[in-house]
Formats: sequence, structure tokens, C-alpha cells
Amino acid sequence: MNAILIKTRNHLWKCIGTRTVTVTTKRTLTDQQNGINFDLSDDQQKILDMTEKFVREEIIPKAAEHDRTGEFPVDILRKAWDLGLVNTTIPVQYGGSGLTLMDRCLIREKLSYGCSAISLAITNNGLGCAPVLLFGNDEQKKEYLGRLTSEPSTLCSYGVTEPGAGSDVAGLTTNARQTSDGDWILNGEKMWITNAGYANWYFVLARTDPNPKAKKSEAFTGFIVERDSPGLTVGRKEWNMGQRCSDTRSIRFEDVLVPKKNVLGIPGKGFRIAMGVFDITRPPNAANAVGLAQRALDEATKYSLERRTFGKAIAQHQAIQMILADMAIGVENGRVAYMRAAYEQMQGRRNTYWSSIAKCYASDMANQVATDAVQIFGGAGFNSEYPVEKLMRDAKIFQIYEGTSQIQRNIIAREHFTNHKSVAR
Ligand SMILES: Cc1cc2nc3c(=O)[nH]c(=O)nc-3n(C[C@H](O)[C@H](O)[C@H](O)COP(=O)(O)OP(=O)(O)OC[C@H]3O[C@@H](n4cnc5c(N)ncnc54)[C@H](O)[C@@H]3O)c2cc1C
Repeated sequence: MNAILIKTRNHLWKCIGTRTVTVTTKRTLTDQQNGINFDLSDDQQKILDMTEKFVREEIIPKAAEHDRTGEFPVDILRKAWDLGLVNTTIPVQYGGSGLTLMDRCLIREKLSYGCSAISLAITNNGLGCAPVLLFGNDEQKKEYLGRLTSEPSTLCSYGVTEPGAGSDVAGLTTNARQTSDGDWILNGEKMWITNAGYANWYFVLARTDPNPKAKKSEAFTGFIVERDSPGLTVGRKEWNMGQRCSDTRSIRFEDVLVPKKNVLGIPGKGFRIAMGVFDITRPPNAANAVGLAQRALDEATKYSLERRTFGKAIAQHQAIQMILADMAIGVENGRVAYMRAAYEQMQGRRNTYWSSIAKCYASDMANQVATDAVQIFGGAGFNSEYPVEKLMRDAKIFQIYEGTSQIQRNIIAREHFTNHKSVAR
């Protein structure tokens, strides 16, 4: 067992032996020598077996109760942290699991099969810390990624959306002005911030050029903001339609002092930081939607084999078989879509187009599949004693957060026309 394994107490590594980074190199899905295939490597299979066991024992039995009460899954999160499932994006040198985007997607799908809200609570550090991971300097990475991996269940959040600006990020009004000694004073409000009540620090995007005509590529700056900063107030937990045990809150900043060392990248260049993270966060988000859809398909299939009408199991009615077939088509295609997005990123290629296709397709598909599952359950599907009603409520948010399905289509169209132009040239 090497020093990193012992230091991080990372079960993810223990369960796959004494290797450190071979999981990122030994794989079949992306193995150039073998071409493209869909077999998992032995390492991936071991990680997924471990995750599946965790989901079976820790998430599935508790998901309905967390949905009913809205209680944040603190105990589950702690166990996931012990297994190394919380900070999978963070490189080994900063104490994380250092897994590839493909591995992270595969894990997310498994976790979401148990409960997409609990999966979000466990994995949202991936979004919160992505700006630091991609754009932070070494000191910032050591401090802020190091905190997440050294202290159990330490969380961070991504704070961009505001009461008045979501899709239109450039419309945000939270602002920061620089003091004479180079520090910054932050004022404004963020809204709908996941894990905000439990986060130790936040990524915050603020306007730093008050000129309304300033280009968006130069008008915003990304900051790392400490949770315990004087003047920072976290709002009440929002009670949402679905994913109810996920923690969603507002954050207010009233003359919050942010030291200059907590500026991410170059002042004025924050818009690119805030948007640049989505290429690595949307594929796992799509995988979350696929996990939910797979669960809906499995629940509906099981029910269709048990429920009898007109003298036979409803699975024997062709109309039900066609619904299940369409659900299966959706789930399988959603899986391929997130795999393609992850694959492109792992080849070092820009994957914006693929990430948005995966996010958009999987989100819309999960909503259709969950609705179909409710239909197959009939009256029982509409009742909260049965599992599919929760799946339908939980699915809706996939079409909204990390860019709505309309915004994903805007991106896909933009990328499509750009690619088309480059072919025409
Ligand atoms: C539970 C939850 C968790 C969230 N977590 C986070 C988080 O951790 N961090 C964070 O920063 N944000 C978070 N968000 C915010 C989320 O990303 C935004 O809600 C989302 O981007 C949409 O913004 P909006 O709500 O302001 O809707 P609006 O932007 O007001 O959009 C309203 C409607 O108009 C459509 N629309 C807008 N512009 C266009 C256009 N150009 N073309 C076509 N249609 C358009 C949208 O698709 C939508 O249907 C979360 C939201 C929720 C509900």
C-alpha cells in the first residue's frame, strides 16, 4: 500500500489493489489498440461493484425517508467519503481519487440508480471545485482541494445563478470592487445553490467591471469565498418538487472581504471559468439522469411482470411491451451519449458539443422514461408509497440545472454551425 493510499484512507484505491494511477490508463473502452468497445476494464468493474454494494446497502433502503423528510444525507455522505466516492475529480496529489471522466460518469450512474438526490449530495463537489481544479494556481489547489479531501464530508458549492439571472449568466448583478490594497469587497445574492448550507467554501462569479457595455469575457471575475466570511449569510433550505434531500439555498454577500489571493485566474476573465467547467460536469450530470432512468425501467419491468389484467401479466400486453422497449432505447442511448462525451474529453478534444448532447438527451429521456414508468404502474404510479412517483419528481430538475434543455439546444446548434462552417472551408 503506498503513502497516498494510507494518507487519504481512500477505500476506492484499496479495493483495486496497490495501483495508484493505472485505472486511468488501463481500460478497454478507450483503448486505441483495440479500437472502441464497450467492455469495462477490470478496474472499472471493481469500482462499480463496490459502488453498487454501497448503493444497495446504504442508499436504496434510506432514499424514500430522505425524500419524505428532506433531511440532508449526512451519514451516507460520510460513508461515501470514506470509500473515496466524494472527491473523484480531484487528482491524487491533492488527496482525491483522481479518476477519469469516464470512471466518474459510471460511478454517478450507479449512485443515481439508488437516489439521484443523494447522488447529487455526494458528487456535487465535482461541480463546486471544478473552477479551482481547472483554473486555480497550485496554492489554491493545495488549500481548497486539500480541505475537501482531508476533512471528512467537507463540501464546496458553485455559486453563479442569482434571483434575476440563470440562463443569462452575463445578466448577474453580484459585484466586487477592489480595495486600495488589492483585496475585493463582494455584494449581491446567489440563488439555488446546491449544498450551500453544508459548504465550507464557494466558487462565486461576480461582476468586476461596472460598465454595462463591457464585454462579458472581460467583465466578470471568479472568486473563492470562505463560508465563514463576515457579511455572508446562507438562506433557508428550499423545498423543491424533487431531489428533496439535496440542499438548495440562497447566499447573500454584504460587504464580504475576499483576499486577493482568492481570485481565480486573471481578474476580469471569470466568465470563461464559470462556463468552462461544464465540459467536465455535464457528462456526469447526464449519467445521473441515466441512472434514474435505468431505475425507472427496472421498476416498471418488475411491476409489469407481477401486475395482472384481463387474465395475464401486463407485460404480456403488446402496448406495455412497446412502452418498455422505448424506455430501453432511451436508457441505452443516454448511456452511449455520456460515454461519447467523456471519451472525447479523455482524448484531449473539446467536448462541448458532446457534453450538451448528452446532458440534453439524458435529461429529456429521463423525464419521458420516469413518466412512462408511472403510466405502467397505473394508479399505483401516482401514489407516493410506490417508487416511481419520486423518480418522476426527481427527473424534472435534470432539464433545468447546469443549463436548461433549451440552453443545451442553443449550444448544440452553435457548435453544429461552427463545425459545419469548418467543413465548408
Ligand atoms: C435544485 C436546483 C439546484 C441548482 N443548483 C445550482 C448550483 O449549484 N449553482 C448555480 O449556480 N445554479 C444552480 N441552479 C440554478 C440553475 O442552473 C438555473 O435555475 C438554470 O440555469 C435556469 O436559470 P433560471 O432558473 O434563471 O431560468 P431562466 O434563465 O429565467 O429561464 C426560464 C425559462 O426560459 C428558457 N430560456 C431562457 N433563455 C432562453 C434562450 N436564450 N432560448 C430559449 N429558452 C430560454 C429556459 O430554458 C427556461 O425554460 C440550481 C437550480 C435548481 C432549481
